[in-house]
Amino acid sequence: MTLPMIGAPAARTTGSPVLEIRNLVVDYGYGDDRVRALRGVDLTLHEGEVLGLAGESGCGKSTLVYAATRLLPPPGLISGGQVLYYPGDGAEPVDIIRQPERELRAARWRDIAIVFQGAMNSLNPVFRIGRQLTDTIAAHRPEWSRTELDGRARELLTMVGISPERVRSYPHQLSGGMRQRVMIAMALALEPRVLIMDEPTTALDVVMQRQIVEQIVELRERLGFSVIFITHDVSLLIEIADRIAIMYAGEIVEDASADEVYRRPRHPYSRGLLRSFPPLHGPRRELEGIPGAPPDFRHLPTGCPFAPRCRYAFEPCRELDPGLGETRFVESGRRVACHLHDQRADLVPAELAVRG
Ligand code: SF4
Repeated sequence: MTLPMIGAPAARTTGSPVLEIRNLVVDYGYGDDRVRALRGVDLTLHEGEVLGLAGESGCGKSTLVYAATRLLPPPGLISGGQVLYYPGDGAEPVDIIRQPERELRAARWRDIAIVFQGAMNSLNPVFRIGRQLTDTIAAHRPEWSRTELDGRARELLTMVGISPERVRSYPHQLSGGMRQRVMIAMALALEPRVLIMDEPTTALDVVMQRQIVEQIVELRERLGFSVIFITHDVSLLIEIADRIAIMYAGEIVEDASADEVYRRPRHPYSRGLLRSFPPLHGPRRELEGIPGAPPDFRHLPTGCPFAPRCRYAFEPCRELDPGLGETRFVESGRRVACHLHDQRADLVPAELAVRG
């Protein structure tokens, strides 16, 4: 089956930062058993931008967003870094990591909302959809009357393509796709500036997956919020994201516009990920996959963590961690963690040298 394109993979003009993650470090466990799951992540989300976060299972994508919103369950521990939220209108940024719990609770849903993995199963089976929507809104807008709350619940359902009459339905009377839309409606109830979606379509069939993604893109265009969209499916991100950050072993290894990642992925891991998924458009091609298995975080290799799986690995890769930085090519805003693109071109053997 050929599916229509959701949107052209072209970089949109984006505004100033709305969320800035700086050198974020997360550990699981304590003492000698401690495992470092995030190793100094730097990432910025801009106003109105769709930022895709991709990588294999266990690379740290979910840990990153749960830590950034302080929703990380134990034994996860934020060991360092800052997460700056810019409220807009020139106001000073707030460091979410150090924000008092009361303020943070008020800010969740209002400033930053999350649709969790498998969120559609989080609806309470014994309450009607309308009640669950109005309870969420009332917790933040206690001054609203019952009529106002009910009106807003109907409006939200309409916004995500569900008949407002469904306020009277119980979750079991809705399909999986509709329940997921209800969760998206709930996340947008207070008109947040940032919407984080953690694999929001994984449990759905491919057609429903597409409808939901189209809906998110359309709502983003209309309401202007910023999105962090987490998935392991890079080909989906190519269609909907403005920018893509690829994660491996608890760090970002490539951060570039979706167009650049699609046309010319720089990091060998990004290239492997792209070739692991069938293209939704264009001619069929053989899938390649990535050799080896994701790394054991307890025993990460010295140097580049991808070296044991990388067909291009050369001398410095097994000794020096390349770190995320600009490439030696003129590529505005692109960052890559790979010695192949090191600014010191003489580091790279001639047969491996990549041209710009
Ligand atoms: Fe491969 Fe070396 Fe680049 Fe790591 S730094 S991705 S091992 S070429």
